[in-house]
Amino acid sequence: MLNVVIPMPLQVVLDDVGWWSGEDGHAKNEPFRTGIPRGHVPADYAAIVSLGRQLGMAPAGCFIIGEWDTKNLLRKLPRSQWMGEKWDNNRWVGPWLEEAADIIRSNRDHFELALHGITHEFWENGKASRAEWHDCYTGVMRPYDELHAHLDMFATLLDQHGLGPFPTSFCPCAGGFRWGAGEKGIDGLLSKFGVRYTNTPFHHMARARATQHHRFGIDCGVLTVDRQPDLVSWFELSTTPTVEVYGPIAGMHWPNILHADPSRNEEAVAPWVAALRAIDRRVDRTLSRNTADCFTQYVHHLCVRVAPAEPDVTFDFTELDALPPFASTGEFTIKLHGFAADRFTSEDLDILSMQYKAADSNAVLKLRRKTKSKTAKLTRIR
Ligand SMILES: [Zn+2]
Repeated sequence: MLNVVIPMPLQVVLDDVGWWSGEDGHAKNEPFRTGIPRGHVPADYAAIVSLGRQLGMAPAGCFIIGEWDTKNLLRKLPRSQWMGEKWDNNRWVGPWLEEAADIIRSNRDHFELALHGITHEFWENGKASRAEWHDCYTGVMRPYDELHAHLDMFATLLDQHGLGPFPTSFCPCAGGFRWGAGEKGIDGLLSKFGVRYTNTPFHHMARARATQHHRFGIDCGVLTVDRQPDLVSWFELSTTPTVEVYGPIAGMHWPNILHADPSRNEEAVAPWVAALRAIDRRVDRTLSRNTADCFTQYVHHLCVRVAPAEPDVTFDFTELDALPPFASTGEFTIKLHGFAADRFTSEDLDILSMQYKAADSNAVLKLRRKTKSKTAKLTRIR
């Protein structure tokens, strides 16, 4: 009997990338930053690229862009930061901006720039409130027009540093998010800017209606996926996961792959490479190339039925095709376990690649549907 699975994907998501100050400022009306005992440096971006390069993927760096403002444009958004109309970012303007931007621009296959926010929180009457996009405690969205201006500002600051185009993936700050409110909600707004993928913990997500699936929801073409608890504490330097990674998101924060001495960042990256590679070797898991790849695979993992019946494997897409439209790469991965390196053929599927991993007795096939038919067959050639 063929052992065939559509494995659960895994995408590395690092929150709070982009800060230059490492200080957790929440006790003095400033944002929760990364909370590490030093400032950030370009080598911290190189650490993300190194992780991605060694794993053959692009970790999502959820970007806070406020401290990249070289022209004090945030004075126009006085509730987006703690200084209001007196915003002054001069302290963080220097050659490190271009050095870090160059690292990101030169390594797009190993650094996915994702949207996180301007400065992470929201200032009401000068007082910091969690968090930027929604009130975390009530689930009430910040004013639509103001958030529209935040997204315009994010785009402007990206352009200042040649870091566009606008990201397709998003992680709301501090998990403050209200799903499903349509055009006038956050999904409608994000979709105008080309965002297609959101990750956030469902256990404290506010909802305007029920999601289509308990692990994901689709609203205005934006696919939102449940991010299960993060692997380690947000401020911990140089750590590795001590728990099983259950979901499709390896939820982490930037410090987790950094060293107190940035020249030793590789020492912090190495254990993550080993841990994530070990997960990728399992028959039931697969590391994703990026967020789009991960989310497409995850929906296939949850909604496509696989029925092996020698010498064929039949896929049933009925549940997948009943979903509202969302951005899909159209590709999905299957793994077959415990047999020699056979060949496959299909009239219904393009076989984009096949790798046989002898050490794990796994074959990994990347497939794409050729037709709109609800079922597809893959045949093993003996
Ligand atoms: Zn954050």
